[in-house]
Amino acid sequence: MGHLIPLAELAKRLVAQHGFTLTFITLGGSASKAQSAFLAALPPSISSLTLPPVPLDDLPPDARIETIMSVTAIRSVPAVHDILRDLQSSTNLVAFIADLFGADTFDAAKQLGIPHYMFIPSNLMMLTLMFHLPTLDATTTCEYRDLAGPLELPGCVPVPGRDLLHPLQDRSNECYRWMVHHARRYREAEGILVNTFDAIEPGAAKILRKKESGRPAVYPIGPLIQTGSPAGLYGWECLRWLDEQPRKSVLFVSFGSGGTLPKAQLGELALGLEMSGQRFLWVVRSPSDGGESSGSYFDPHGKGYDPFGFLPEGFVSRTKNMGLLVPSWAPQIQVLAHGATGGFLMHCGWNSTLESVVNGVPMIAWPLYAEQRQNAVMLVEGVKAALRPKEGEDGLIGREEIARVVKELMEGEEGKRVGNRVKELQEAGTRGLEKDGLAYMTLAEVANIWKGLNVM
Ligand code: UDP
Repeated sequence: MGHLIPLAELAKRLVAQHGFTLTFITLGGSASKAQSAFLAALPPSISSLTLPPVPLDDLPPDARIETIMSVTAIRSVPAVHDILRDLQSSTNLVAFIADLFGADTFDAAKQLGIPHYMFIPSNLMMLTLMFHLPTLDATTTCEYRDLAGPLELPGCVPVPGRDLLHPLQDRSNECYRWMVHHARRYREAEGILVNTFDAIEPGAAKILRKKESGRPAVYPIGPLIQTGSPAGLYGWECLRWLDEQPRKSVLFVSFGSGGTLPKAQLGELALGLEMSGQRFLWVVRSPSDGGESSGSYFDPHGKGYDPFGFLPEGFVSRTKNMGLLVPSWAPQIQVLAHGATGGFLMHCGWNSTLESVVNGVPMIAWPLYAEQRQNAVMLVEGVKAALRPKEGEDGLIGREEIARVVKELMEGEEGKRVGNRVKELQEAGTRGLEKDGLAYMTLAEVANIWKGLNVM
């Protein structure tokens, strides 16, 4: 969903502003009910087709999600080819856009002479890393976390190796090789559209906006966040609770669509929130090491699911006047847009980051997986739109540290500075998408190429 939602927003803009029609091609066998319902609800100019499932039974049982998606994509090339050929014969097909793990499907477009592009639902730091990954891979042998110093990517804030993209953290895992493979193929794209905007990563934007031979044109066209009916059916009652809270007084705590914490960390977070004395609205999930009653990523409302059962003794009753707990899911965009929300303790997923910025909500960065640790470095040290609590030597973030950072964000001087910075980003992001704004014009540039109006 984290890829589908911004892609759908891109599609809606291409329809409304440039009169295109679009067809989504989704991987077979893996669409959830939420995804199917989401696709079915898109406007009539946006249709969707599902690829036939491909056999994956030769993959090891512990294959990582990045490997599964990559193998599925490469094995789907013949089916993508057939769909593109049919579309080509029935419409004026001007471009094919592949998602992050789908660079191998460029082959299908190439065989038919269709211009092929890529969409990155993440940011320019991630793209810069991918552009440099083949060289990094060829010139280093150790794990990136063992590099002598932080990695200095052009235009980006230096990132310690241990904060780099999660699938790059174990070079012996198959998914690492897949990432290097994709990184090489990104250069074959005719252009790369990225869901970000210049003000949030000015250094990287300045470099990547310049056309350079041997590297695809890069188009920052965001921040695109979901408009229209929101994802998920749960947790609406929390908006009524927010209505009763003072302005900007509530810290929203949530770790994306699938993020969970280990049991010990969940306990520290609860006690830290309590110690902070601040109001909070917390989307609670069972811990990652909580056993069978945890539910799962794909079935968080599974049988026997009781996330509150893992919280410290007495916590729920002690905090009932200052906090609201919601199991598994809340309408995040509506919560962030609510006047009572004054801060967001979040996992640095890119969609969540953009949603926070678009709503002017300052952040506490608590990254978990994917590219979230490098996003945290960018947000905290680069653009200074978030505070980040420090891990203790045991790898946990302790309750005192949590309480300190929460108080600082909600009441302190640093919190004020972060809040002002986020306001500036909010204004820049919103302005960019308005008619004749930077992101608007960037998308128009791509649209003109597709319409054959390119004058460059
Ligand atoms: N989300 C939500 N309610 C929740 C948790 C997540 O609506 O309780 C939405 C959130 O608004 C965002 C998406 O799920 O659009 C999460 O995407 P993100 O890229 O931040 O993280 P991911 O889930 O991919 O780790």
